Amino acid sequence: MKILVTGGAGYIGSVVSERLITQGHEAVIYDNLSKGHREAVMPEAEFIEADLADSRQLIKALEDHKIEAVIHMAAASLVGESVQNPQLYFRNNDVNGLNLLDAMLQIGIKRLVFSSTAAVYGAPETMPITEDAPQNPTNPYGESKLAFEKILRWYDEAYQFRYVSLRYFNAAGASERFGEDHEPETHIIPNVLRVAAGRMSHVSIFGEDYPTPDGTCVRDYVHVLDLADAHILALKATETGSRTYNLGYGSGYSVGEVVEMARQITGKWISTESAPRRAGDPPILIASPDKIMSDLGWSPRHSELDRILESAWRWHLSHPHGYGSANN
Ligand code: UDP
Repeated sequence: MKILVTGGAGYIGSVVSERLITQGHEAVIYDNLSKGHREAVMPEAEFIEADLADSRQLIKALEDHKIEAVIHMAAASLVGESVQNPQLYFRNNDVNGLNLLDAMLQIGIKRLVFSSTAAVYGAPETMPITEDAPQNPTNPYGESKLAFEKILRWYDEAYQFRYVSLRYFNAAGASERFGEDHEPETHIIPNVLRVAAGRMSHVSIFGEDYPTPDGTCVRDYVHVLDLADAHILALKATETGSRTYNLGYGSGYSVGEVVEMARQITGKWISTESAPRRAGDPPILIASPDKIMSDLGWSPRHSELDRILESAWRWHLSHPHGYGSANN
């Protein structure tokens, strides 16, 4: 199929596009490079540097490339930043997302895979989280993604618009070729590895008084390669109807455990410093992946945290300054 991948030059987008291409699909990457990297686009992919706010470019991209379905990953996606700057989140994730849907409808493309998030749940009481758990986001990022999920539901009802929303838990790890490179980096695993590599003096631990066994937040870290597999299955599933799935493994690790395992994997001492809680962070997020496993046959192949960290560390060592550095 011919697939438009918005945000395809980003961390998850690059690995999903790589998987699309190796499976014989055609990928057209639509990315404004605000966060993504030109170097993270496979040479086999078409690349369009453009913004989702630009309807003319969107319609042209969809028409020129005879796109059959869209994987919509372009978004602002930082919890802390969203609390400081909600305007950016509702504009990027909802207003610009609607622009994409309008362009698709105008041309008659009605298949979409949407990158949603565990942040739609807020801070649920019951773990693991099933898709029908209450949705009460604790930050504008989660709220903006939940709003877009709701828009999709009504578009399905009115226009037979078929979508699969994938609620990612914590994407982590790397493929051989593509990995995580944000500036500034806010995520725990790449930050821990930056300390191991000597690029940072220490990693801040945001809160050690949460109601968890060691007081630090617990997250369900999912290998980006398993995420990529799920997108291929989701794309196929849009043939038959609309659904929403969690993407996690059903097991959680605390920030403290991530640091400790990274010390073992890298063989380096990783210094930590206590820091205040980060606004909008729920204490524990662990997925129930049962629905996507039974409906679509998703069977994760890389679920051990040590393997995830190893892959991220390998990528880190081969790209010591991320993308685009002369030293790589
Ligand atoms: N975290 C931390 N130090 C960092 C980055 C993150 O303690 O430098 C914590 C963060 O507060 C959260 C967990 O690690 O509890 C995962 O955060 P991350 O930003 O990686 O992903 P999120 O869960 O926000 O999507």
